[in-house]
Amino acid sequence: MRRGKRRPAAFFGGPHALHRPGADVLSVQGVTVRYGPHLALEAVSFTVRRGEQIAIVGPNGAGKSTLLKVIAGVIPPDEGVVQVYGDEPDRHVCIAYVPQRSAVDWRFPITVYDVVMMGRLRKHGLFRPPRHEDRLKVEAALATVDMVSMARRQIGQLSGGQQQRMFIARALAQEASLMLMDEPLTGLDLPAQEQILRILDELRKAEVTVLLSTHDLEQAADRFDRLLLLRRRLIAFGRAEEVLRPDLLLEAYGGRLRLVPMADRVLAVADSCCGHGETEVDR
Ligand code: ADP
Ligand code: MG
Repeated sequence: MRRGKRRPAAFFGGPHALHRPGADVLSVQGVTVRYGPHLALEAVSFTVRRGEQIAIVGPNGAGKSTLLKVIAGVIPPDEGVVQVYGDEPDRHVCIAYVPQRSAVDWRFPITVYDVVMMGRLRKHGLFRPPRHEDRLKVEAALATVDMVSMARRQIGQLSGGQQQRMFIARALAQEASLMLMDEPLTGLDLPAQEQILRILDELRKAEVTVLLSTHDLEQAADRFDRLLLLRRRLIAFGRAEEVLRPDLLLEAYGGRLRLVPMADRVLAVADSCCGHGETEVDR
């Protein structure tokens, strides 16, 4: 298939796909993605049920960000099919994609309020001026993530945790039912992480389906319904005790991961000194 960025029809107020009754929230079948000659994802297949919270784990370069982008419809797969409620992702307004913080130009002169309002524009099309209802939804979303007092700030003035909460507010304003978050917890201190995890608890009550990439295997095991262990291919997908097995972890991380047996599970500790204490997938 043609490479390059897609322009999601829904963003421009084009036709929104209806949710097909009985369809999985997310179905990924045989998805392969290449960057030139480099194979980033190979024949990845899995399905996700409504309201599940999934942690995507794996070493640097495993394809976590690529997987989230392909589900968001930002890049098309070279092979395979992604379906959200039975249709292609770029026809959906119900998907919210929260990019890795490093992928955003934080100098862009725009306020928190404007970014969150973009969630409403995404829902109703760019060419319709905001209505009273849109403003109410934006204010409610800002309140949920405790960002009302920051609404008029430029995005460059925010802390890492506030940046993440702003994007979550945008997703809430959009009334997304599938939320894709690329390492929202990386680089945050523990209180800021807890704040995001509490918001995830709220999303759970609202039956919003969440896929989140993370480096923290312990947190993934404790807080998420299922773990998806990735290293270009899908190594394992299931509950923590099914995925955090020494053989599977070794396959994903290689010998550089130290495995510490605990009472109820194996704890994986990276021996690497660099990056996020992670091993890098060999190219
Ligand atoms: P992760 O998020 O797990 O660290 P990525 O999805 O970012 O992994 O990357 C998977 C692989 O694809 C890596 O080897 C990375 O270097 C490569 N890659 C990612 N984005 C690009 C790109 N735009 N062009 C070329 N290679 C890329
Ligand atoms: Mg990444």
